[in-house]
Amino acid sequence: MLSYQHGYHAGNHADIIKHLCWVAVINRLKQKNKPFNLFDTHAGAGCYRLDSEQALKTGEFQSGIARLDNITAQDPLLQDYLRILSSYSSDNQYPGSPLIASHLLREQDALHVMELHPGEFDALKQSTRQYRAQGQVHCHFRDGLAGLVALSPPQPNRGAVLIDPPYESRSEYQQVINTVKQCLKRWPQAQLLVWYPLLSARAGDKEGAGEAMCHTFGELNNNVLQIELRVTKNTPDAGMFGSGVCFINPAWQVETLICPALEEVLEYLGEDSEYSVNWLNNIDS
Ligand code: SAM
Repeated sequence: MLSYQHGYHAGNHADIIKHLCWVAVINRLKQKNKPFNLFDTHAGAGCYRLDSEQALKTGEFQSGIARLDNITAQDPLLQDYLRILSSYSSDNQYPGSPLIASHLLREQDALHVMELHPGEFDALKQSTRQYRAQGQVHCHFRDGLAGLVALSPPQPNRGAVLIDPPYESRSEYQQVINTVKQCLKRWPQAQLLVWYPLLSARAGDKEGAGEAMCHTFGELNNNVLQIELRVTKNTPDAGMFGSGVCFINPAWQVETLICPALEEVLEYLGEDSEYSVNWLNNIDS
């Protein structure tokens, strides 16, 4: 289908939880000197402009990242995240997940980003050119789910995966489940982050599909952690009232990095906002 373009949604509340989780995971990997591999299966354009026609048309960033403009963050993870954003903010640029990860890589680490939309892929190549020239970032014009399985396990097998599909059809949820299972067969140590929307009844048959997908992950023989951020009440016509990240094989105590950052973010997202943390499976307990 490929009608989704992230430029309309860049900087919304979903980006905040997704990118905070991604930064936390990468920071945790960097606590050891050993190299790691990152995969971003649905990369998007890499960089967006918050004064673009697309961004201004929906204005989604205004109730998201714009609320964190000029704040003095107290939490270390939130500080890291906002520091990365501010390094792009001249000219109203805003980094997507590929640039956020590229920014955090060390010389010994690598990032594979995959994108299937031709226009978004061209933009991705352009936005990552400096990092590609350094040899650490690799752009793949291919289906990200098939690509992840094909490239698993990487060498070294220390690393993490961000799966951030547009979920344009309900079948995408099942495709993600199948991919996670296939990936884990080849790469059991993979730390997988699957983003999903929380949708009200207005979304029709996709209502509850994200939660159902997470419960399927919870039946795997892996640790599974779910972190969600809701920004409004789930009324029938609320649309996307929040979103979540489901971690399969989460890094040890990664939630202790993320929760304080989300707690602080709530102060700026409005009185109806809240977050939750839930272990769907904890094989270590
Ligand atoms: N991860 C990005 C970020 O956080 O900045 C945003 C990605 S956006 C939500 C989803 C992207 O996936 C779109 O650019 C879309 O073109 C792309 N896409 C859709 N289906 C795909 C597929 N099967 N493989 C790779 N990319 C796909």
